[in-house]
Amino acid sequence: MSRTALVVGGGFAGLEAAIHLRKAGLDVILVSDRPYLWIYPTSIWVVTGEREFEDVCLDLADVARRHQFTFREGRVESVSAARRAVVVDGEELVADHLVLAIGGTPLKPKGVEHTFGLSGEPENASRLHDALEALVAHGGGRIAMGFGGNPKDPSAVRGGPVFEVMFNVVHMLRRRGIREKFQLAFFAPMPSPGERMGKKAVAAIQKMLGEMGVEMRFGKKIDGFLKGGTVLFEDGSLLPSDLTVFVPAQGGHPAYAASDLPRNEAGFVQIDPGCAVPGFPGVWAVGDSAALDGPPWRAKQGHLAEVMARVAATNIVAEVSGRPERESYLPHVSITCLMDMGNGAAYVHRDETKEQMIPLPVVGHWMKKGWGAYFKASKRKQIPRLPGM
Ligand SMILES: Cc1cc2nc3c(=O)[nH]c(=O)nc-3n(C[C@H](O)[C@H](O)[C@H](O)COP(=O)(O)OP(=O)(O)OC[C@H]3O[C@@H](n4cnc5c(N)ncnc54)[C@H](O)[C@@H]3O)c2cc1C
Repeated sequence: MSRTALVVGGGFAGLEAAIHLRKAGLDVILVSDRPYLWIYPTSIWVVTGEREFEDVCLDLADVARRHQFTFREGRVESVSAARRAVVVDGEELVADHLVLAIGGTPLKPKGVEHTFGLSGEPENASRLHDALEALVAHGGGRIAMGFGGNPKDPSAVRGGPVFEVMFNVVHMLRRRGIREKFQLAFFAPMPSPGERMGKKAVAAIQKMLGEMGVEMRFGKKIDGFLKGGTVLFEDGSLLPSDLTVFVPAQGGHPAYAASDLPRNEAGFVQIDPGCAVPGFPGVWAVGDSAALDGPPWRAKQGHLAEVMARVAATNIVAEVSGRPERESYLPHVSITCLMDMGNGAAYVHRDETKEQMIPLPVVGHWMKKGWGAYFKASKRKQIPRLPGM
């Protein structure tokens, strides 16, 4: 099979697509604007100092060598779906199949520069770590953490990691014996944040926050942030804070906005169940880049990004081989995560048939850390892939 595939974006979705397309015999180029894949799920421990920045990076050139595809570091400036082409640092690249996987982009509410993020730039995790340590050195203060919504596409809300960071920070402060020196608050515009994970998960999260002495400000629309981090709500009320962590919901990537790609209201690329972009043969979109279909509680996640990448790769191979059958990502839409708490975790799963939340004290934390090690080693081909992981 001597067809070419150009995959743009070296995150969960892009790397998985590149690996599978190469394995099937295509000539693959992966383009990404960072030399590494940033493993967002384990970046939460950079904040608390349990992991170094480098621990959360997977070197893409190294992985490309091991899987025998080409990695090129560069920034996608524009996309032409009609010509299956992208412009990377001024040069146009074209292929038989173009896989779009450059993720989304965090929305920018007023004053967001006065907050610390967890999504987007990897350096955000280190900045937050340094700010947290500075507050600890100061002797205490007020910490507020929260996330925002996107009414145009609720699947692009990113709340889970904020709960994880709050739980981990509480654990860290307790371990250091300084918990009582901090006032903690959690805020979100929805009345029941986290409800996409299911009723059991929401109830358990709120119970834990209450037991940890975290004030909850839910159901108030966020108007913006003031210098220093104080949160301003639409009703005029304030949540004073010395350090504010805020993870906005995502919108579509700006490179798509200026393209001929079909997009939903929030700017994500429209796809069919096989991850193909309708009306543009040979163009595919996977992971956070794509407009997800499915149940109302669907959410953009790393595991789903990998499933979509495998579905797209399978369908590309079928198309190149002249076979008519196509796979769909829709039966795989689920929410699955190990929500870490610093000293344990909870396994959360939701699909069309069930909602589960299984507490895993102590062992859950080590399982999530183990997953991080597995992710790196398996992508480097140092250990075999486990089915479905
Ligand atoms: C803190 C945090 C914790 C999370 N924890 C979990 C979890 O526990 N479980 C889970 O399933 N999901 C988790 N998620 C969600 C998960 O990380 C995302 O759904 C996943 O990263 C999506 O993968 P992606 O490849 O589509 O996009 P991304 O991971 O965003 O990758 C996009 C890639 O494209 C590159 N790129 C961007 N713009 C350009 C450009 N113009 N040119 C070239 N390259 C570009 C970026 O550098 C990046 O490498 C978490 C997210 C965050 C923020």
